[in-house]
Amino acid sequence: MAILRLVQREAWANKVAKGFNTTDVALEFALTHAELSEAFEAYRKHPDKLGEELADVVIFVVGLAEMTGVNLDAAVEAKLAKNAMRRYVRGPTGVLVKTEGESRSGRELGGTGRSGASNHQKRKGDGF
Ligand SMILES: [Mg+2]
Repeated sequence: MAILRLVQREAWANKVAKGFNTTDVALEFALTHAELSEAFEAYRKHPDKLGEELADVVIFVVGLAEMTGVNLDAAVEAKLAKNAMRRYVRGPTGVLVKTEGESRSGRELGGTGRSGASNHQKRKGDGF
């Protein structure tokens, strides 16, 4: 998954070249949040812009990782492995709730995205 490291370095090089923020972590979190809001607005009102806005979110997140010394490839890989071991059960209100036990495959609930329905369609009912 070394692609994130490449994106991280390229996004950082662009920040430096353009004179964008490279030191104020709190500002970068705020700007990242703003980009996520832009993506939400694109989803609601301008779906043709959604990909561009989600790309902005990723670019800001990798910038934050670079700014704070996080190797996002390693962090995402570790988190995906951790998430795969988590187990969820559907609670009485229909929302998935994390349980103490670990999943054998991590795919007991939530799916793999290969069933034909998009992850978005599946997650609409998952209480996310
Ligand atoms: Mg944007």
